[in-house]
Amino acid sequence: MSAAAQAPERIPVMIPWLGEEEAQAAADAVRSGWVAQGPRVAEFERAFAERVGAEHAVAVSSCTTALHLALIALELGPGDEVVVPSLSFIATANAVRYLGAVPVFADVELATGNLTVATVDAVRTPRTRAVLAVHQGGVPADVDALRAACADWDLPLVEDAACAIGSTVGGKSVGQGALLAAWSFHPRKVITTGEGGMLTLDDARWAERLRRLREHGMNASAAQRHASSTPVLESYLEVGYNYRMTDIQAAVGLVQLGKLDEVVARRRQLAARYTALLREVPGLTPVADPAYGQGNFQSYWVLPDPDFPVGRDALLAVLAEAGVSARRGIMASHLEPAYRGHPAGPLPVTERISRDSLILPLFHTMTEAQQDRVVEVLRVQAARAEVVRVRAGG
Ligand SMILES: *Cc1c(COP(=O)(O)O)cnc(C)c1O
Repeated sequence: MSAAAQAPERIPVMIPWLGEEEAQAAADAVRSGWVAQGPRVAEFERAFAERVGAEHAVAVSSCTTALHLALIALELGPGDEVVVPSLSFIATANAVRYLGAVPVFADVELATGNLTVATVDAVRTPRTRAVLAVHQGGVPADVDALRAACADWDLPLVEDAACAIGSTVGGKSVGQGALLAAWSFHPRKVITTGEGGMLTLDDARWAERLRRLREHGMNASAAQRHASSTPVLESYLEVGYNYRMTDIQAAVGLVQLGKLDEVVARRRQLAARYTALLREVPGLTPVADPAYGQGNFQSYWVLPDPDFPVGRDALLAVLAEAGVSARRGIMASHLEPAYRGHPAGPLPVTERISRDSLILPLFHTMTEAQQDRVVEVLRVQAARAEVVRVRAGG
């Protein structure tokens, strides 16, 4: 007790699970002399597409750039509306604005934090050109229902799967059957390449265009030119970008992908243990698997009841004082200064989740003792507040 009160060892919210094997793979890429996009990127793309169950994977520099290219593939432009959740990392909505298109915010359901057919339908207009759904915090969205509804509405559905590698819907990987799914390898996600992203899809012609767009619109990649014994005179077919991933990143990604099953299994085990322990803390509802799928628990969040005696920010402060790095829950993009003046209808569930929820530490190497410490802080807070309430005659 006193040791914990004096100088508790800090528990971070996330630590990527990186080891000697990743360091070696990165070193091998450096020693090979080929460090920019090349053979390791191509290999990572093949392995990733296979893992997700997609025909094609196109590696890029981040999920944000993946989303940008996905929306270019849909040929969206100024005035076009794209239905997105406000409850997401802000990159989701920003990608729509890169094209001059208009993000139209739809609310989410309380249990999953995801768009539903009903919340999308509520904000759909004749100007809607696409739906961008998020698998929030690794909780899969109900894509079977969303894909069917979007087919009825004749709208393309793009999936922001930044957090969702290893999550499943009906036993199949998130991304399988997706028109376009965008992924992130930021260290805050389940597997990492430092920075990095991926697009997965089944359409070969789109894949070809996306490969071109990530590389300045060039019709021949550097790897193709390198492999050719005769000079390849490339041309630039349209305005593209430099959104390439490096071979150093891909080398790390290949090792990380090999560990994915182990990482997801451990995260699910730790999440189940949190949920069991938190039964002793009344008034906190933890995130859980939806009926139609299984999450990877990229984020393990808890939602305090509206009458929970300690406010979210006060809870975060107490946790921080006890050496626990928890985080506020997923943000509401429409409340940020970047969206001031941007039209938004009522988003009560979004605002409730972003105002009240908190994300607890969860990482591959987390120990049960560390988990116990996190839960103990929450338990003491709930109990202490209960005493105050009883004394006050509440
Ligand atoms: C992290 C995240 C992104 C951005 O990913 P980057 O690879 O950092 O660009 C986009 N959308 C969601 C839902 C995310 O969680």
